[in-house]
Amino acid sequence: MTKQTTTMNRAVFLDRDGTMIEDVGYLDRLQRLKLFPYTVDAIRLLNRGGFKVVVVTSQAGIANGVITEAFVKEAHEEIARLASAGGARIDGFYYCPHSPTAVVDEYRTECDCRKPKPGMIHSAVRDLSLDLSRSFIVGDRWRDIEMGQTAGTTGILVETGYGKTEASRRPSNIAPVTVVADLIEATSWILGQ
Ligand SMILES: [Mg+2]
Ligand SMILES: [Zn+2]
Repeated sequence: MTKQTTTMNRAVFLDRDGTMIEDVGYLDRLQRLKLFPYTVDAIRLLNRGGFKVVVVTSQAGIANGVITEAFVKEAHEEIARLASAGGARIDGFYYCPHSPTAVVDEYRTECDCRKPKPGMIHSAVRDLSLDLSRSFIVGDRWRDIEMGQTAGTTGILVETGYGKTEASRRPSNIAPVTVVADLIEATSWILGQ
């Protein structure tokens, strides 16, 4: 049992829009991609703390025909590049392109990766050998927190993006979580646990 614990990784799952980058609605051009000023620092600190850093993002704009899957991948390459330029490493990007009411036929499905379902986290566990009970999720929406709690991680709500509004109305099926101003505060909190 001890041996297994030492070979499994801890992770911090990060919501993308409103948590790592400014929420601009449907991000459809790289020029509109704006990392918050502390995002790269936060990722680098989490790396140094021994955490895998994993982005989990719902991109229903793909299902609705507003953005393409290719563009989402391009945006993630750009985020990875900006992180890398600042000495930070992102270990995985997972996105859900689906919607039960999708305009684009191939994405219209009741998938298991649409938040708050935990499919993206389970994919990351398979890829990165993660110990979820020692992992965290940071997001600006309750559906981020619910996804993380369903998977067995500890959630932290940030007040950026939709977080300020969300903080005042926690759904009763979601356990109370720590609420902090932003991702860099969430990082300090996680590293202090
Ligand atoms: Mg968000
Ligand atoms: Zn999905």
